[in-house]
Amino acid sequence: MVSEVVERKEFKAVADATLSDFFTRTPRDADSYCLRMTSGTTDGLPLFLVWDNRFTAHGLFAGADRVLMCTGSLAARLGNALLLRNGMGAEKARVLCADIQDMMPEFSALMDDFKPTELYGFSSFVRRAAAFCSPETGARVRALLFASEPVSPALQNVFESVFPNALLKLVYHTNETGALSRPPCGHLPLDSYHVLDGVDVAIDDPDETGAGDILVSKRISPNIVVEKYRIGDIGRIHHDPCPCGETSSLQLLGRRGYDYIRIAGTTLLQKEFERAAEALNDLFDDYRAEASSQVTDSAVVGAIVLRVHRKDGMWSEALAREIARRFSAELFLTQTKTLDDLVRAGAFSPLVVERASEPFQVKLKELKLTQRKD
Ligand SMILES: [Zn+2]
Repeated sequence: MVSEVVERKEFKAVADATLSDFFTRTPRDADSYCLRMTSGTTDGLPLFLVWDNRFTAHGLFAGADRVLMCTGSLAARLGNALLLRNGMGAEKARVLCADIQDMMPEFSALMDDFKPTELYGFSSFVRRAAAFCSPETGARVRALLFASEPVSPALQNVFESVFPNALLKLVYHTNETGALSRPPCGHLPLDSYHVLDGVDVAIDDPDETGAGDILVSKRISPNIVVEKYRIGDIGRIHHDPCPCGETSSLQLLGRRGYDYIRIAGTTLLQKEFERAAEALNDLFDDYRAEASSQVTDSAVVGAIVLRVHRKDGMWSEALAREIARRFSAELFLTQTKTLDDLVRAGAFSPLVVERASEPFQVKLKELKLTQRKD
């Protein structure tokens, strides 16, 4: 147990503790545990940790029947399939794990055959899968399940038209800590949650509106407690009675981007931005990047604005174009695809480069990569 704030890069010690705890204490009810692998740590290596489902599993899958799993990495898909089968109230559920590369016209026949009743995953990925749903298949879907990702009003409209009988259900959790919220009560806006029993949420250094970094304290196994973990999200606590009987809720305001931001089906790594910026150090001296996503008629499209500063003050339109061209070709947003590749595939809009005439303030809490909400 620690009494100070635990930063993301310090979470490895907690993850290692879950592993050694699992392997040194026997006997165990193996069905209650699963091994999780997270993405996007500061040193580029994934974290391995053992989840004790009694403390970490969220309730989103309870009662699920035929689930189409639309999550990014193979590890996440398999992890979620395991979770679903192990003590989540959906032991008999059938699961179809899809890959983003499966989203081709041929996928329609598979969807008609599988007849999903629930879709779970990234909203941008579910949006893509929706394009291959026939009206009959879409009408059979009972719920769309999302974890820790805002669903914009534009995307909600798309889902309502493709899946007219589906409820939107969101839960707040992270790969490090597991579930943080209760399943939705049905009375709160989609960006707000009731905190799970046994989880303590505090806001670090809130601004005048009450918004600030979310610090989470919770027990993640019988022997391991995480205290004041800076999870990387910004939020605000509201003290309003809810018709369901709860007296407070946590509103999620966005991701601060400590290590990574997930957007439009990709993972933007802070470290990769640093590497690409270093490769272009002949063109600019410092930068800040802001990522966002927009829903178009056919897909969720990511967008990145790169603000750059040159100490010598030199600037021209040609220079801005050169930075955009080289940065897009240099920056990898998936393991194999650059921003340039994704722009050509229509998944991202072309990089916008803006001049910052003043140097960026270097502050302790300054972050180079941030996410703007829709
Ligand atoms: Zn409620």
